[in-house]
Amino acid sequence: MKVFNSLTRRTEELKPLENNEIRLYTCGPTVYNYAHIGNFRAYAFEDILRRTVLFNGMKIRQVMNLTDVDDKTIKGANAAGVALCDYTKTYKDAFFEDLKKLNIQPAEVYPAATDHIPEMIALVEKLVEKGVAYKSEDGSVYFNVRKFPGYGKLAHIDFDNQRTGARCAADEYDKENVGDFALWKAWEESDGPVGWDSPWGRGRPGWHIECSAMSMKYLGETFDLHTGGIDNLFPHHENEIAQAEAATGKEFVRTWMHCAHLRVNGEKMSKSLGNFYTLRDLIGKGYSGREIRYVLVNAHYRSGLNFAFDALEDAKKSLARIDACVDKATEGEVPEWAARHLDAFAAAVNDDLNMPKAFAALFELVREANAKGGAGTLGVFRRMDEVLGVIFFGRPEKAEIPDAVRKLLDERAAARKAKNWAESDRLRDEIAAAGWTVKDSRDGQSCTKA
Ligand code: AMP
Ligand code: ZN
Repeated sequence: MKVFNSLTRRTEELKPLENNEIRLYTCGPTVYNYAHIGNFRAYAFEDILRRTVLFNGMKIRQVMNLTDVDDKTIKGANAAGVALCDYTKTYKDAFFEDLKKLNIQPAEVYPAATDHIPEMIALVEKLVEKGVAYKSEDGSVYFNVRKFPGYGKLAHIDFDNQRTGARCAADEYDKENVGDFALWKAWEESDGPVGWDSPWGRGRPGWHIECSAMSMKYLGETFDLHTGGIDNLFPHHENEIAQAEAATGKEFVRTWMHCAHLRVNGEKMSKSLGNFYTLRDLIGKGYSGREIRYVLVNAHYRSGLNFAFDALEDAKKSLARIDACVDKATEGEVPEWAARHLDAFAAAVNDDLNMPKAFAALFELVREANAKGGAGTLGVFRRMDEVLGVIFFGRPEKAEIPDAVRKLLDERAAARKAKNWAESDRLRDEIAAAGWTVKDSRDGQSCTKA
């Protein structure tokens, strides 16, 4: 499995550092509002990545943080006049519901920033001890970017030719304002009731330190893979590297991957531009999570994807075409031509998650199955769907056939091939006793829940 590493700017083999397990950190949502489908483009890309790792027989440990304290959540909670945790709970709950609607596999751990303040304070203390961070007049703590020689290696910033800003208190800023960034922010009036005691006085963590502290807690000081949308590359991920590596003296992350933006009329879909749709908006318009997932995973993750309702209409048609073919697909020995399409599919996903090519392999399978009959192709659809998550999603009757029943179906296919009708009938009864109905047609046997 090869992926494009934003750090080296090369396509490289993704090999687990330890135990055949990929340790993956994915920057999660800032829970101050409903996530929009631009955010879900990032989570859908990470889901395809996760599924491809598993498809290749590796294990995975994925951590996705919930940013429940930062400039935006504090502003939202105080404007609404509710406690920060009550304010963010609404959006945390909504986020998990939305993930299910898009068939995104859950991560192993979802740490919330507010549950990890002691870890963040400890990391900031370490940086102060090492002399790379300093306390400012107002009781905030800043990272001194000039003290970390590797600063800029991810974003490929040519530091010496950069007009550097002195200091930046905001969580988000651009490359024009490279400068010392806040690790700990002193309490101010606008924070209202939000704040924690620290060695530097009352305050709260900066956004970037949250991810360094939580990723190292759950994945170790050096881990395999870290991802996010391209807007996270600078300054967020650059700062995460600086904080972690300055503290540990070790390499923080081996591979970085970033997905391109979902755009609307050429502009990034974002809350600040107001050009966004939430998942709820689209479901309210009559589109299904399955159709939306189809659109999100169809494009290459490093290519811009322009959001349009036409694409959702096309998804409907493509899924209907797949469904009609899968309805006729049966268990049994995989024909040679179908195995070839599966090989092409595997080569595509392993080539830096080339989804346009992977879908092309799926549609070649559909085309040929329509022409030649779908006998023996069901397992191929099932295997492809381990990565895609769109073929059987919302169509449980075929996807959920238990392994034990599948085994009986295979035995029955073999018995029928050998013209052993008595055995075939016996197996049909056994399958029926397990709660499944098997039907025979010209294309072979198909199975539905009784
Ligand atoms: P946020 O909640 O703003 O911290 O963003 C959560 C994730 O969504 C991050 O990985 C962002 O990079 C990503 N993201 C935000 N907007 C877009 C977009 N329009 N297209 C793709 N990813 C996005
Ligand atoms: Zn992050």
